[in-house]
Amino acid sequence: MEEVSAAVRRAAEDGLRVKAVGTGHSFTSIAATDGLLIRPDLLTGIRSVDRAAGTVTVEAGTPLKRLNEALAREGLSLTNMGDIMEQTVSGATGTGTHGTGRESGSLAAQIRALEMVTADGSVLTCSPTENPDVFAAARIGLGALGVVTAVTFAVEPVFLLSAREEGMRLDRVLAEFDQLWAENEHFEFYWFPHTGNTNTKRNNRSAGPRRPVHWARTWYEDEFLSNGLFRAVNHLGRAVPATIPTIARVASRGMPTRTYTDLPYRVFTSPRRVRFMEMEYAVPRAALPDTLRELKAMVDRSPLRVSFPVEVRTCPADDIPLSTASGRDSAYVAVHMFRGTPYQAYFTAAERIFTAHEGRPHWGKMHTRDAEYFAASYPRFGEFTALRDRLDPDGRFQNDYLRRVLGR
Ligand SMILES: Cc1cc2nc3c(=O)[nH]c(=O)nc-3n(C[C@H](O)[C@H](O)[C@H](O)COP(=O)(O)OP(=O)(O)OC[C@H]3O[C@@H](n4cnc5c(N)ncnc54)[C@H](O)[C@@H]3O)c2cc1C
Repeated sequence: MEEVSAAVRRAAEDGLRVKAVGTGHSFTSIAATDGLLIRPDLLTGIRSVDRAAGTVTVEAGTPLKRLNEALAREGLSLTNMGDIMEQTVSGATGTGTHGTGRESGSLAAQIRALEMVTADGSVLTCSPTENPDVFAAARIGLGALGVVTAVTFAVEPVFLLSAREEGMRLDRVLAEFDQLWAENEHFEFYWFPHTGNTNTKRNNRSAGPRRPVHWARTWYEDEFLSNGLFRAVNHLGRAVPATIPTIARVASRGMPTRTYTDLPYRVFTSPRRVRFMEMEYAVPRAALPDTLRELKAMVDRSPLRVSFPVEVRTCPADDIPLSTASGRDSAYVAVHMFRGTPYQAYFTAAERIFTAHEGRPHWGKMHTRDAEYFAASYPRFGEFTALRDRLDPDGRFQNDYLRRVLGR
């Protein structure tokens, strides 16, 4: 932390901008800088575990993978998380990274305190009781308020989650969406474009016993089918786009039904080895069925060939000013394109649908929105920019992306 303070002070003396980076998993240029880049590699590890308070404090550059494994060793777990765990704690929370949940929200919504170095090099700590205005905003700070050095998360005694993965027709998922959401602690589904098929996943707490997927099945389904074969099929689709609808029909019917029970992070996350571009928007949860129907109609009547499934998740409303779920129950719709395939036409058409439903884009994924849009879309946008102006009056943490989305 002292080294980060000294680096920020030196950068100020040299007139350089500063940007802390995580593992670079964002699809936008949110972490880019023409000044001093602070890498997370030496800012890792667990600082303390407070069992009585149910919290863990970690260095901000700790990869989520290390955090999850360390917590499991301590008999503890986060309540909810996203699809992968390669990102750093600060990078993931700072852009609003989320999984799916009925009551439990994004990683940032699980933060209980933060420590950061601000533009003048001083250390600022915040929590609901200490600098509460900073705490409110800094949980999803986009790297605009300072360099986060430590994050305190709420944790709970480790539990088991049972997953059920099952194919369902899209019409049925959309007709029963409210019920599927209400009946499951964590519901999500993947819709395969050019088909009416989905793969659904329900995760619910279980009394056990632990029944992980057998290693051979894990290799076959998660490595061979979901990564190796999927990559080969994407290469074929990129070379011969006309094959994509047929492949999608075969693949979507071939998804295995499976149930398994394991530690939370092993159920929430899975390996993602096929490279892609992604745009994800949060729409009000009630707007999800219409949003998906419009997306499907758009793909059906277009010449687009989309080989990646569309992912749908939910989060409850939270109280973080720049959270995509700020003040409203949300559903997330993520569109992907295999890397190297033109994505603009698809993303532009999808974005038109998302914004018509008052969508808010993920801060780390592709979008074309600007500060004017966000000022209208986030009721507490002004609260965030006022805090940014107070903590960083000279734009020390500014970059082109932040200029576009926050203004100034
Ligand atoms: C394969 C893949 C799967 C993904 N799955 C999900 C998912 O399931 N759910 C989801 O919501 N998103 C997901 N994402 C998006 C990803 O979680 C976010 O883009 C996240 O921000 C990446 O974290 P990172 O550590 O790579 O941070 P980076 O991309 O390196 O940085 C992101 C932001 O954090 C800031 N930052 C980093 N460290 C600090 C610090 N110490 N202090 C202040 N600011 C800091 C950077 O300046 C930048 O603004 C996925 C992305 C990929 C590539």
